[in-house]
Amino acid sequence: MARWAYVNGRYVPHALAAVHVEDRGFQFADGVYEVVTVLDGRFADLEGHLARLHRSLAELRLPAPASNRVLVFVMGELVRRNGLRNGSVYMQVTRGVAPRDFRFPPAGTPPTLVMTTRSVQRFATPEQVEQGVSVITIPDIRWGRRDIKSVALLPQVLGKQRAADAGAFEAWMIDPDWTVTEGCSSNAWIVTGQGVLVTREPGMRILNGVTRLSLLRLAREGGIPVEERPFTVEEAYGAREAFLSSAGTFALPVTRIDGRTVGDGRPGPVATTLRAAYLADAARRSA
Ligand code: PLP
Repeated sequence: MARWAYVNGRYVPHALAAVHVEDRGFQFADGVYEVVTVLDGRFADLEGHLARLHRSLAELRLPAPASNRVLVFVMGELVRRNGLRNGSVYMQVTRGVAPRDFRFPPAGTPPTLVMTTRSVQRFATPEQVEQGVSVITIPDIRWGRRDIKSVALLPQVLGKQRAADAGAFEAWMIDPDWTVTEGCSSNAWIVTGQGVLVTREPGMRILNGVTRLSLLRLAREGGIPVEERPFTVEEAYGAREAFLSSAGTFALPVTRIDGRTVGDGRPGPVATTLRAAYLADAARRSA
């Protein structure tokens, strides 16, 4: 089956999808993106992703490429054309094409809008869900506005490769005060010995995950005590449970951090419950 992408108003064969060499995304990483999960043919957490897209755009003074109605239409059309049941839609907006100059291009320069889809057979292997995954910790070398979902992902590229080299699923990034900020492409969570669910508070030091927000809501609805605050690597080593979250992983148990076993080494009840609750909730609420 032909694979389609969307570039600036046109559906094009994926193999031919391209932007100009002077696109500011390519030249300066001057752009933002979103990844929306497609679960059984429907978008998960669509509103949250659109809201965060507009927040990222506004923070960088990037013009919106289209109304939400149009964006959602194109997303749906791409899913339809690509026969996608499970996977994701990737959406990227840049400050457009202009002669290379650090300053913004003239007002009215159209932003670049690109969308692609990715199909998966399953979002996680049975072993990952039943045994949990491992993470390593690395210094967080990113910029000061991690709350913006910018396409400037070089620290995360390096971090993910370090994790892969170490045979780990993810790298958790650490600030100079030894607190965990988040994963390279996920938010980080622990459950304390007292049974309190802890994840870092939103602010400029982390990306406020859309999945994170849904999991917090589900935890509160389920009566799980929650604290939004930084936690240290030591606290994570000694946690009862740990897990990570993102659009494509939902809530995925973490059973090893830097080679040390977390809790009893098996996925804990909070992570397992929240994963199931997220999937049920997404099926109920999805568009
Ligand atoms: N933190 C970072 C740095 C990310 O890149 C991501 C997702 O890519 C997340 C957290 C999780 O965000 P979401 O749940 O919206 O996918």
